[in-house]
Amino acid sequence: MTVKIDLHNHSCLSPCGSDDLTPALLAVEAMEQGIQILALTDHNSARNLPAFAEACELCEIFPLFGIEVNTIEDVHVLVLFAKLEDAMEFGSFIEFLLPPINNDPHLFGNQHIVNLEGEVTGKVEKLLISTSGISFNDVIEEGLSRDALVIPAHIDRSANSALSNLGFLPDLPYSALEAIRLPVASDTHGKTILTGSDAHYLQHVGRRACYLEMEELSYSGLKQALESGKVTYRR
Ligand SMILES: [Zn+2]
Ligand SMILES: [Zn+2]
Repeated sequence: MTVKIDLHNHSCLSPCGSDDLTPALLAVEAMEQGIQILALTDHNSARNLPAFAEACELCEIFPLFGIEVNTIEDVHVLVLFAKLEDAMEFGSFIEFLLPPINNDPHLFGNQHIVNLEGEVTGKVEKLLISTSGISFNDVIEEGLSRDALVIPAHIDRSANSALSNLGFLPDLPYSALEAIRLPVASDTHGKTILTGSDAHYLQHVGRRACYLEMEELSYSGLKQALESGKVTYRR
């Protein structure tokens, strides 16, 4: 079957994300667009994932619980979990590795933790768009050891990407790759290339969703489908 997926989206927890983009609104918008597998991937934190889990359940969307990790080299990597509690544990680990620099909301934006209803229940003090203390190679290894999917984000972007910051894509056992424009003019080691919306505003949700051929709608089905890599990008 063909499944519409979008594995890269932010919420109001990311300082660069709109305050209006709550996890619940993300899920509702995705549902309206027929997205069946959806990930929330805030920068270096998992704290809006509990609200996202509830919202996806109500919207009958298959959720992936993600974090967009910013490595020491300033490269963005999506680390996506099947289980909320595994993502929360990994999120705490990544937040702990961030330097002790606090967010200035006037400069960078708010870092709101919200509930299902979108009410602000807290905020993260540390600046979430700092580079964390984990290297690119280590985040790939750490994610895989925790049974997560590891997907280098927007590899063809001119900043915060493997190709721009490392100069090449190391040959590592990624679950897949994410690019903005296709084809990618670089050696991608035969990996499946996905597109993701990287939505920071409600109107960006679904803008780069893609379609994956899957045997079954499950985490193991997704892993298998990423290995065989039958993706289409527009319909
Ligand atoms: Zn990014
Ligand atoms: Zn992003």
